[in-house]
Amino acid sequence: MLTDYRVRQRDYLLQIARALTSRLNLNEVLGLILRQTTDLLASHAALIALVDEDGVYRVRQAYGIAEPLLERIRALPPLKGDLRRAVHELERQLVELAFNFGLGRWQVIAMPLVLGKDEFLGAIYAFRRRGAGFGADEYQLLRSFADQAAIAVNNARLYEQLVQEKRRLDAILEFSADGIAILDSAHYIQMFNRALSRMLGIHAEQALGRRFEEIVVLVNKRSGMTLAEAEAGGWPLVSDAPAVRVEGDLRRADGSTLSVEMAFTALFNARGRLVNIIVAVHDLTRFRLAEEMKATFIAAVSHELKTPVALIKGYASTLLRTDAQWSEQTLRESLKVIEEEADRLSELIENLLDASRAQAGRFRIAPVELDLAELIPRVVQKFQTQSPSHQFAVSLASDLPLVYADEARITQVLSNLISNAVKYSPPGSKVQVSARATPTEVIISVSDEGLGIPREEQERIFERFYRGENATRRGTPGTGLGLYLTRIIVEAHGGRIWVESDGKSGSTFHVALPRMAAG
Ligand code: ADP
Repeated sequence: MLTDYRVRQRDYLLQIARALTSRLNLNEVLGLILRQTTDLLASHAALIALVDEDGVYRVRQAYGIAEPLLERIRALPPLKGDLRRAVHELERQLVELAFNFGLGRWQVIAMPLVLGKDEFLGAIYAFRRRGAGFGADEYQLLRSFADQAAIAVNNARLYEQLVQEKRRLDAILEFSADGIAILDSAHYIQMFNRALSRMLGIHAEQALGRRFEEIVVLVNKRSGMTLAEAEAGGWPLVSDAPAVRVEGDLRRADGSTLSVEMAFTALFNARGRLVNIIVAVHDLTRFRLAEEMKATFIAAVSHELKTPVALIKGYASTLLRTDAQWSEQTLRESLKVIEEEADRLSELIENLLDASRAQAGRFRIAPVELDLAELIPRVVQKFQTQSPSHQFAVSLASDLPLVYADEARITQVLSNLISNAVKYSPPGSKVQVSARATPTEVIISVSDEGLGIPREEQERIFERFYRGENATRRGTPGTGLGLYLTRIIVEAHGGRIWVESDGKSGSTFHVALPRMAAG
């Protein structure tokens, strides 16, 4: 039979175990362990050291130890390696430190915190200022208490990890670029992230607690199955049922629509009951634009390929007719058209190859010392001959320095900009090419008096395949490759390109190339 004292002790231990294990905040748990230890052993101070995630044994919390000494304790070098030895090493260091502090010879009891058979979590140290050492009874008492304390520490740590993990997941969901909503099994919205708020143009608070179908309305379904359709077909029968996907346009708060793909995934609990449906919404706008651009590009390229081929074929067939005689002049003129059209074809093919090289990061230049004061007038002269209906003007600063550049490629840049200036401006208008130097760059500018480029397109015109409104609306021939390649060439030289235009009356393209470093 247990003595009265034993019964009381057992009840007491039970009581503190309950208090301990009901707490989940690690610092609170440690504080409680220390207070209870001092209480239990009538000691004057206690301290707890734990093994961190990185395997280092460190003092985590203390009770009843004055700040100056505690500071020194905290400054003790962390212990690693054989952790059981570390327990006693720390004990020795603590006694020594207290003694050196003039606090006399402390009595210490060190009790490892072990989980299950051999998972070492750390140790509790209890101190008595003077008097006899700790007895076997006290050791036994602390032993029983330490078992409970180890469980409490472990729980609190697991809980801490869980909270940390949940925070991480919440952040991932909240800041994901895709729209994400979490629904309960009856489709009521429990979570609604930023991206989805942005896509729909509403605040998360307006969506939380409402039914998914009230908030997220798909108009214009293009493919797949809506959540309702999938459920009508029995989805999700099993816990690893494949996600349901649907593509269409989302209705936004302002009445506009957004092209999206939605995926629904079912989440079951351990008992096999459907608890949540996770909705991921992916914005397809860019993808659609790219698709559209690709289609326009293919149409444009086919057209650009067909025209010269048709001309070459037409002239060649005519010349080959045996039932007609051609004058020397007709012959020469026809062959000239064939030659010009063949040049146009090979230029187009070169551009396509350059674009694919640039995509693959294999675009190279061969720079030499280049005199723009010589090159620019030469290129402009060629255009003057080809396009007599436009007026060309060249204005170059007198002190134009040499640049280190690829002659053929810079010629291509100038040709692209000048031919666009001609293409997008009315006959009779002026095209001006100028160049000047700044302390670090040489700036070439090509201006025209044409259609201009609206502000919202001024970045996009340098993208691959992009053709402006002014080109597509009027059916101006082109492939949307010219300015893209121009930018690629300029950037390969370490330079920059930009356009200035008020969107109505004319545009000025600027190309800045780095000046050659002295020497
Ligand atoms: P494209 O083959 O369409 O001419 P570019 O890449 O050369 O392709 O130009 C892209 C777009 O930029 C053109 O479709 C046109 O809308 C616009 N653009 C280029 N140069 C000019 C200009 N000088 N004036 C007005 N618009 C221009």
